[in-house]
Amino acid sequence: MRAVIYARISRDAEGTHLGVNRQLEDCRQAASARGWDVAHEYIENDVSATKARVRPQYQQMLKDLAAGKAGALIVWDVDRLTRTPRELEDVIDLADAHSIALVSIGGDIDLATPQGRMTARIKGSVARHETDQMARRIRRKSQERAQQGLPNGLCPFGWRRVYDTDDRGRVTGSRDVVHDAEADQIRDGVARLLGGESVRSIMVRWNEDGLPTLRGKKWSTTTVRQTLRRAANAGLRDHHGEIVGKSTSEAIISEDEFYRVRALLADPDRRVHHGIIPNYLLTGIAECGRCGGKMRYLKARGKSGTPSYGCRECTRVARTMGLVDAVVEGVVLGRLQRPDALAALPTVDPQRGDELRARIEGLQARLDEAADLFTAGTITGQQLTRITGQVRPKIETARESLAAMTPASAALSIAGPDAVARWEDATLVTKREIVDALMTVTILPVGPGRGRDPESVKVEWKS
Ligand SMILES: [Zn+2]
Repeated sequence: MRAVIYARISRDAEGTHLGVNRQLEDCRQAASARGWDVAHEYIENDVSATKARVRPQYQQMLKDLAAGKAGALIVWDVDRLTRTPRELEDVIDLADAHSIALVSIGGDIDLATPQGRMTARIKGSVARHETDQMARRIRRKSQERAQQGLPNGLCPFGWRRVYDTDDRGRVTGSRDVVHDAEADQIRDGVARLLGGESVRSIMVRWNEDGLPTLRGKKWSTTTVRQTLRRAANAGLRDHHGEIVGKSTSEAIISEDEFYRVRALLADPDRRVHHGIIPNYLLTGIAECGRCGGKMRYLKARGKSGTPSYGCRECTRVARTMGLVDAVVEGVVLGRLQRPDALAALPTVDPQRGDELRARIEGLQARLDEAADLFTAGTITGQQLTRITGQVRPKIETARESLAAMTPASAALSIAGPDAVARWEDATLVTKREIVDALMTVTILPVGPGRGRDPESVKVEWKS
C-alpha cells in the first residue's frame, strides 16, 4: 500500500518544538513497519500558526488523498495534522469516504479506530474550552488586582514606584509611594478647580510653572482633567470606571475632595468650551459658515416646525437639527466603524502614536499565536498562562499611554466594527466630546429652498 506523511513545523515561545526531522523519521518507520511505500511527504512550514493562515501543503494533501493517490496517511500526532475541530472532522470524513487508513504515532490517539477518533474530538473540544476559561481567568485576575487595591500598568503621575528586593537583589514586589512635587501639583490643581478655576487655566499654569507629564510632554486639558479626576488621588481603586475599594497607594487628596472634583468635571457645562448645556449634539460645536460664530439651539417655530441650529451672532444662518445631526453622525460613524479606526485617531505625537499602535498589534498577535499553540496542543496551559500574564499588562500599559495622548480618547471607547451600537449607548456628553475632538462642523449659508441639502453641512477632519 502507498502512504503519505504529513509533518508540520510550528514554533512555540518556550522553544520546545518538535523537530520536523524527528516527525518524519518516526512516520517513515511507521510506514516501513507496516510494509507501506511512502508516496509523498508533505512538510508544512507553519511557523506563525495563526488561524487565518492557509496551509498549502495540507490543502494539497487533502486533494491528493481525495484523488486516490494514497491509501494511508501518517502523522506524528493529531495536533500536527489539524488545528481546529472543524479540520479534524474534514480529515475523518475524507478518510471514511475514501477508506484511507489514518495513523498517528507520536500521540496516544489512533485515528484508525473509532475510539481514537472520539478521543481526538474530545481533546480538541477540551482545548477549546480551556482557551475560553483562560480568557475568563485573565479577566478575573485583573479584577482581583483591582479589588486588592493593587496598581495596574504604569505608575501614575503623583507617585513613584518602589521595588522590594530580597537579599540577592531579586524583585519580590512593588508599591507606589507619593512623589512630593508631583503630589503638590495635583493638590494645587484640585484646590484651584474647586475654587472655580477652569481646567484650561490650570493647564496653562501647569505648563508654565509645573512639572511636565510623565512623558515629559506639555499638559493638555484632557490630561489635566484625567489627572485631577483619578480615583487613585484619593487612595481609591477603580476598575472599568467603578470604584471597587481602597488602593494600596497612599492618598494625595481626601475622598471628599475627590468626589467634588468628579462631580464638577462631570458637569457638562465644564466639558465644552463655551459653557453651553448640552441638550443637543452640536450646540457650541458647529460653526456658522458666514461669520464663524458658534451655532445655538433654535426652538421650533409653529406647529409643524422642527428644532434647528442657528447662528446668534449674525442671525443669518440656520439649519434643521435633524439634518445636521444625521450628516455628522453618519460621517463620525463611517470613520469609527472602520477596522483601522484606532489607527485613524489623531494623537498629540503622531510618531509615538504609531509606535504604540504597532506595539499593541504586535502584542495582540503574540497572544493570538499563544492561544493557537495551546489549542494545537503545542504548549501547555501553564505555558499559556505564563505568556498571557506577561503580555496582557504590556497591552494595557500601551493602551493607557495611547489614550492619554489621544485628544479624542473618548472615541477610543467607541471605535471598532460595532461602533454604531456603542454610539447609540454613549451619553450626549461623550458624543459631543468625540465630534469636537475629531472634526470641524460648519453650517454653510444657503439660498432659499436649499435648507434640506446635506451638502450644506461641511465636515472637516481635525487631524
Ligand atoms: Zn453667523
